[in-house]
Amino acid sequence: MSFDRRDLLGRAAVLAGAALLPSAWTPALAQARLIQDPFTLGVASGEPSPRGMVLWTRLAPRPLQPDGGMGAAPVEVRWEVAEDPRLRRVVRSGAQLAVAEAGHSVHVEVAGLRPGREYWYRFRAGGHASPVGRTRTAPDTFADVKRLRLAYGSCQKYEAGYWGAYDHLVADDPDLVLFLGDYIYEQAGTDKGVRRHPDAEPVDLAGYRVRYGAYKSDPKLQAAHAAAPWMVIWDDHEVVNDYGGDQDRLNTDPARFLRRRAAAYQAYFEHMPLRRHRRPVGPDMLLYRTLDWGRLAQFQFLDTRQHRPHRTCDAQSDGKAIPDCPQRTDPSRSLLGGAQQRWLVERLETSQARWNVLAQQYLVGEIQRPRPDGRIYSNDGWSGYAQTRRRILETWRDAKVSNPVVLGGDIHCFIAGELELEAGKPIASEFVGGSISSLGASNADMQRLQAANPNLKFTEGEHRGYGRVDLTPDGCEVTFRAVESALVPQSPVRNLAKFQVEAGRPGLHIA
Ligand code: FE
Ligand code: CA
Repeated sequence: MSFDRRDLLGRAAVLAGAALLPSAWTPALAQARLIQDPFTLGVASGEPSPRGMVLWTRLAPRPLQPDGGMGAAPVEVRWEVAEDPRLRRVVRSGAQLAVAEAGHSVHVEVAGLRPGREYWYRFRAGGHASPVGRTRTAPDTFADVKRLRLAYGSCQKYEAGYWGAYDHLVADDPDLVLFLGDYIYEQAGTDKGVRRHPDAEPVDLAGYRVRYGAYKSDPKLQAAHAAAPWMVIWDDHEVVNDYGGDQDRLNTDPARFLRRRAAAYQAYFEHMPLRRHRRPVGPDMLLYRTLDWGRLAQFQFLDTRQHRPHRTCDAQSDGKAIPDCPQRTDPSRSLLGGAQQRWLVERLETSQARWNVLAQQYLVGEIQRPRPDGRIYSNDGWSGYAQTRRRILETWRDAKVSNPVVLGGDIHCFIAGELELEAGKPIASEFVGGSISSLGASNADMQRLQAANPNLKFTEGEHRGYGRVDLTPDGCEVTFRAVESALVPQSPVRNLAKFQVEAGRPGLHIA
């Protein structure tokens, strides 16, 4: 009896998976005309490889409804990739079935393209055409790439500001965009910001879909997705503030919390240009991965949320602040979890790339915030897991990893700093790229922080924006790009600061 039941469940799982594959089976029902434009959330691309990339869209004529206004029926989505912006020279095309179980999202994995060049793409469904997106393939594996321009951002709280930063990011014409976490915020709607979240705090799939529907309706965000391929990682707010593993700040029953995490991860997958094998299974979704850009760069993308152990020295904490304590340096406790940490060390030890860019959620450098009660570390980021940071720095040093550079987000401030094991001997530089709209700290606070932490070379908390990185075989130039004000939809941009890292010479110079 139980054997038959397992067999049946197995078959059901296979069928559910088949619905997500590019399907030759397209019932007439799936080709019905749609009365309203289903492409309200724009288009996106990501995960560029030398031969292809992922193309994404989600059908949602009513993006603030849990089902996007689509009902339960599957719909056929046709796609095409061309060598020109007017899509006259189409080189690949096909169809995929958008199904309600995946929120009518599609994740098309294009293959067979040429390395290191631009392409344009478009979707059609129900008698409507999507906007045209631009994307590109990565260079050939062994190509000697002369130059890469990328932009990176994080933390776009919808209520806190407008996303004028994306106007300038698009004008900067990056080859690649990295988003380092806090793509949505989960808090319930308030009237305190410049715009309003949908009312309820999401706790289930319907709620998270509505939240992504609100965020992804923004035309500036859509334009940024349509301009270049994105590589995305999440931080905490894609689920809930300060969560780690199966633990939230309220210490909700772990089984119940994991149901929420499963819903949040499913909604994240449905709204991001990720490969289909990353689709979550229950509350688990593997997000850490590498991206190679010829011989010029390898990016290591980390997930510092899902695999971490419980909060460091929680009983001694006051909010996030903890004193120094044995758990903080316990080698058995990794911010990455054992499997991801072993994977990262192996990738670093074997990388042949000129630049090795660690793309992650936070500021990696040791930060102390001196307080009279001796609670000077945060237990939410790397300082709560100092052993993990040490292991990465030792790997960079001992394996002679070529030109490590760190990019980060989370703290809503622009910070540039150096990472070292011995004072005065930098091993890597790191650049935290501000926030797209989430509010940061005052510059008076940032000056105090910088004074207490000599590894920090530049801090600025009052401006919103993004980071721009220009990589060549000889150098890495990072520019902090700040909008004048994120409280208005359009705002001019300026360079807050510019930094240079010379290949072969760790440490940064302020230009
Ligand atoms: Fe944030
Ligand atoms: Ca965060």
